[in-house]
Amino acid sequence: KKITIAIDGFSSTGKSTLAKQLAKELGYVYVDTGAMYRAITYFAMQKQLIKTDFFDKKSLTEVLPKIQLEFKFNADLGFAEMYLNDENVEKQIRTIEVSNFVSKVAEVSEVRSKLVEQQKEMGKNKAIVMDGRDIGTVVFPDAELKIFMTASAETRAQRRFDELQQKGDDVSYEDVLKNVVERDYIDTHREDSPLVIADDAIEIDNSYLNKEEQFAAVLDLVND
Ligand code: C5P
Repeated sequence: KKITIAIDGFSSTGKSTLAKQLAKELGYVYVDTGAMYRAITYFAMQKQLIKTDFFDKKSLTEVLPKIQLEFKFNADLGFAEMYLNDENVEKQIRTIEVSNFVSKVAEVSEVRSKLVEQQKEMGKNKAIVMDGRDIGTVVFPDAELKIFMTASAETRAQRRFDELQQKGDDVSYEDVLKNVVERDYIDTHREDSPLVIADDAIEIDNSYLNKEEQFAAVLDLVND
């Protein structure tokens, strides 16, 4: 039986790692909704609509209909990459600069409704694993399996820091921790669809679980 799997939770809890593993194992489509919010943010930065202490929400809202987002499957990598107006932006959207602004862009209702609509469409009649912040609550409230992932801010910052270092990004652990804590705050306090755990979600705190243990636990839930 094919089901819809919604994975939500705080920043850097390993949602995408888990979602990718599940999609691969089950032969499902994986959708990283954070990449969509990041792509819009990258677009806004490119167009100078967002800078330190400056965010032209009105102009961003006006150009939204012109922003086209698409996931294209890359067979070599084994997952889909994000395309913004036909340009592959997979690398550009993972920088600390985009991370620093993305939650502010995700607060804008018009941005959320555009992306939620597209996400609902992608999930129609498909075996799908989608990760984000509002998948179990807003995008697929009827998902058969909802996972909510948490871990301490320090654990998450350390993971993010290791990842960025591997990519050669020159950032400090303190800056990464600050970003994680800030995004948590904005995500849980925004007016439109704040990050909350769905009533019927299963919470997994993976501060003390490794990837394999976590994957095994969730696979058991899928097979239940
Ligand atoms: O998952 P990721 O960390 O890439 O998401 C980046 C940001 O996009 C989050 O911090 C959050 O502000 C926003 N987001 C969201 N709703 C989603 C996915 C991401 O608001 N479904």
